[in-house]
Amino acid sequence: MTDTRHHPSEATLMAFAAGALDEGLALVVSCHLVSCPACRALVAEGEMIGGALLDSSQPAPLADDALSRMMARLDEPEPPPPPATDGNAPAWMPAPLARQMNALHGPSWAAQARRSLGWRWLAPGVRQLSVMRRTRGGGTARLLSIAPGTTLPHHDHGGLELTCVLDGAFHDERALYQTGDVAELEPDTPHQPVAEGNHPCLCLIANEQPTRFSGLVGRLTQPLIGF
Ligand SMILES: [Zn+2]
Repeated sequence: MTDTRHHPSEATLMAFAAGALDEGLALVVSCHLVSCPACRALVAEGEMIGGALLDSSQPAPLADDALSRMMARLDEPEPPPPPATDGNAPAWMPAPLARQMNALHGPSWAAQARRSLGWRWLAPGVRQLSVMRRTRGGGTARLLSIAPGTTLPHHDHGGLELTCVLDGAFHDERALYQTGDVAELEPDTPHQPVAEGNHPCLCLIANEQPTRFSGLVGRLTQPLIGF
């Protein structure tokens, strides 16, 4: 795996730590955290700050034995890290995504769909797999498989867009994104990703609001994408 060079913004990581991100965006961050110790540390810091703020705003009496119970827990062995993948899920799929796919498609999903995973044709060279049909906040999350050299229709979005590369690479007008990298796009920032390399680029994409495509191909594809 290549070194991660593009991370979610600090504001996004803090929102994640506070539980304030839309669930699709939170899933993208969770998948990035699996392979990024630097962002895991920032999130842990954010959770500690959040916990301290909560403690100071809601004073509650501690039980008499709270300190001794806490000290006892320090001696307990650390829980093992979560597995990188879940059951029959493919090796490139991080555990948080595999759990979501199992929740959406049933626990036997990966075993049943091991050959094709249920990818659906979206556009020439592009296939998609639904991850969250509609998040509680009104956003979407999906997996895209983009054939090498394929250019996605030019598009922008009314809300934040987070993309985590799970395998392969793509570039847009700003940078090259490789496995583990996250591309964070502010609202109303149009871009046009192009898959790099010799094998398909697999990425998890979440939007706060539905994606808007421009151009003839984009508008023809819109009804298929805007689920
Ligand atoms: Zn990171």
